[in-house]
Amino acid sequence: MTRLVVLSPHLDDAVLSLAGHIQRLRRKGTEVRIVTVFAGDPDWIGSPSSWDGKRGHDAAIETFAARRSEDLAAMAQLDVEYVWLPFTDAAYANPRDPQAIWDAASIHLHDADAVAVPGGPLTHPDHEFVTTLGHVHHGDLPLLFFAELPYSFRPSHLGGFLRRETPPSLRARAGGNLEWTTIRLTRAEHRTKQRAVACYRGELAALGWRGWLDTVTGPVLRMERIAPLPGKQLPEGLDGL
Ligand SMILES: [Zn+2]
Repeated sequence: MTRLVVLSPHLDDAVLSLAGHIQRLRRKGTEVRIVTVFAGDPDWIGSPSSWDGKRGHDAAIETFAARRSEDLAAMAQLDVEYVWLPFTDAAYANPRDPQAIWDAASIHLHDADAVAVPGGPLTHPDHEFVTTLGHVHHGDLPLLFFAELPYSFRPSHLGGFLRRETPPSLRARAGGNLEWTTIRLTRAEHRTKQRAVACYRGELAALGWRGWLDTVTGPVLRMERIAPLPGKQLPEGLDGL
């Protein structure tokens, strides 16, 4: 059985960016495990960050719990394994210890056939952190990069996304431009993705999108994009997406 592990920076990135791919893989019999790196430390004492504070909780752990419960609902929509690593995002603890975080993540990669990490625009420090971790440590595992949604559709990144450009920071690490494959979701895949994304109601509201429901139902989430780091054969079930 082929297994893809997706390293998701936050409790929503894998779904926002890859839910269509994930469903297609599941339909083909590929196992998918989503490992969320900054799922929040349940023992954290203190108030929410300015971002998490938008939800109105007094304590950060209340927000972590709310975000996890949204994620749990989305995971059920997609029928995937999931892991929440107990690390807080950059708004709480920065700098972080990359080795400690990799040690915790790598436990969940022991049976992986490939690993996927964010691939652009890579403007958020937590996303960049996860991509660097994957790139430095993936070893013999094939490494895949995914376009980060909806951020690739922000006006400052949309042109590059449509031209299938590889962000400069990733190009430097990958040794050149990557070959991006575009997945256009079927109606059924899109509907399931809508349902999964809608589970993150509180997070979508925190993102501050006016009419976020339009974003959920609109063109942003109908197209996904992924690119392998060249040099390694993708295992059966992950090739020819
Ligand atoms: Zn994120």
